[in-house]
Amino acid sequence: MDRYKICVIKGDGIGPEIADEAIKVLDSVSAKFGFGLDYEYFLMGGAAIDVFGVPLPDDTLNAAKASDAVLFGAIGGPKWDNLDPSIRPEKGLLKIRKELEAFANLRPAIIFDELINASTIKPEIIKGVDVLIVRELTGGLYFGEPRAIGKDKAYNTMVYSRSEIERIAKVAFVAAGKRRGKLCVVDKANVLETSRLWREVVDAMAPSYPDVSVEYMYVDNAAMQLIRNPRQFDVILTENLFGDILSDEASMVCGSIGLLPSASVGSKVGIYEPIHGSAPDIAGQGIANPIAMILSAAMMLRYALGQETAAMAIENAVKAVLKDGYRTKDLASFDAKEICTTSEIGTIISDYIKKA
Ligand code: NAD
Repeated sequence: MDRYKICVIKGDGIGPEIADEAIKVLDSVSAKFGFGLDYEYFLMGGAAIDVFGVPLPDDTLNAAKASDAVLFGAIGGPKWDNLDPSIRPEKGLLKIRKELEAFANLRPAIIFDELINASTIKPEIIKGVDVLIVRELTGGLYFGEPRAIGKDKAYNTMVYSRSEIERIAKVAFVAAGKRRGKLCVVDKANVLETSRLWREVVDAMAPSYPDVSVEYMYVDNAAMQLIRNPRQFDVILTENLFGDILSDEASMVCGSIGLLPSASVGSKVGIYEPIHGSAPDIAGQGIANPIAMILSAAMMLRYALGQETAAMAIENAVKAVLKDGYRTKDLASFDAKEICTTSEIGTIISDYIKKA
């Protein structure tokens, strides 16, 4: 029997609640499809600061590096907001992404027909939306040096090298080639030099991918087009900050931020995490939607472990559960038959997998 070592980092806020549901569902598929998952639990973010005084302890990083995949909930919260920036929870996440060279964040945004009324956008605009956002994750403004804050002046630096752009663009070209063959590069080339280098690099690579058509769009226009006509997009390739913002926008096109999974992959171990944060406003109440986390676990099975059938079993169970009207509170007003707690919806999805 194949066995895989999974480094689980539950994190803060709703992180532990939703991670438990993902593990429940993973246990169902692993039993059903005959492979083993060995979970090892480690701290990061606020939980690690409380115990070790640092957001990413060496033990966590070493375990992540030695694992087959990292399953991660979310980190952060008001309790740690006033700490020195060098040890804030987010530092841990940025560092683990960098150390694992997880430079490509894949964020699918798909409309579930069953939840078409959950979006604030008209059903006829969003029906059939299936966008993959490929966000550069380890460069740009979030990492650029120099950076500083003084009393009356602060600055950050947006920097990208040719090789950083090439490796993320390759991920996007390959993904587009396996989908509908449309790549939209989102940038701000009318203002930013980094964007102009992105265009130069992507233009130079395009002839190697003859089945993929490339278009460029300014980020302000892209933000508008995602709402106006989201179906026009297949794969969106963009840098770190723009991708962070556009993928949250895409989540609301889909209805709830609690639905969208992501995979952060690169040359080493991948990190599988929902796109949302630790939602401290609802933590501990049993009302968080675990579906983004559960679908992130499905991405882990697909991309890290090669367990495509098991990944599809999770995705089909999620669709079936939504079709049958089970909802967490965030989706309560949309064709709900039964409002479930975080744990209940995890159990229902898990049971659907067992029965399918
Ligand atoms: P957030 O994504 O945590 O929450 C935004 C809103 O969406 C909140 O109203 C929240 O209740 C709701 N929400 C989020 N996930 C949900 C779910 N699964 N089910 C139902 N509702 C959900 O963003 P925020 O409020 O800006 O940030 C809160 C904390 O999370 C901050 O400390 C921030 O730094 C951190 N954060 C962490 C990550 C990460 O760990 N990857 C990402 C973003 C933000």
